[in-house]
Amino acid sequence: VNFEDYKLSEEITRALGILKYETPTEVQREVIPKALENQDLVVKSQTGSGKTAAFAIPVCENINWEEKKPQVIILTPTRELAVQVREDITNIGRFKRIKALAVYGKEPFSKQKEELKQKTHVVVGTPGRMMDHIDRGTLDLDEIKYLIIDEADEMLNMGFIDEVEAIIEELPTNRVTMVFSATLPQDVENLCHEYMNNPTHVEI
Ligand code: AMP
Repeated sequence: VNFEDYKLSEEITRALGILKYETPTEVQREVIPKALENQDLVVKSQTGSGKTAAFAIPVCENINWEEKKPQVIILTPTRELAVQVREDITNIGRFKRIKALAVYGKEPFSKQKEELKQKTHVVVGTPGRMMDHIDRGTLDLDEIKYLIIDEADEMLNMGFIDEVEAIIEELPTNRVTMVFSATLPQDVENLCHEYMNNPTHVEI
């Protein structure tokens, strides 16, 4: 299997070439075709497996550049991961001119608020700050098509369950949800059961 088999757009294919991604990793082989078909997915996989590109490639492929409101929300447990994921999305989406923004605590709210007024396709962030933007009306969720929960086990270990649930409750229900987690403890399973639409389970 190689990336050409997925019939990705010329813009995404060109970006993968620059990143020197030649063959998909195992998690990418499992996830990309299903995500391109908009299936809900629960993916058990480790950091280092190529999981970020596994969701970033299909999400970037399916983003509509013309749409002014955000289309993708990605929740991460830490600011460091949010920044990394934002960078990966920007690299994969560079020739589509996809704009991704990271929002997290300990950076002025006002700066993020101003950035959210510009066209933003993807918002990556920690649950607390993401919820702040939703509560204060600075993040419009009307056009969200994808929710990605990255490192879900870490997120719940850090005590973010209430924020995660509050955010999900605000999202359109006709979205695609993908959960990535190194382990699948009961609280993660419960979250998936509660908020996903008949998800396919993938274990690497
Ligand atoms: P991740 O598991 O998302 O943290 O990715 C681990 C590393 O693998 C990152 O440095 C990626 O840039 C790299 N990577 C992801 N997919 C591929 C691929 N198909 N070929 C080569 N490197 C990749």
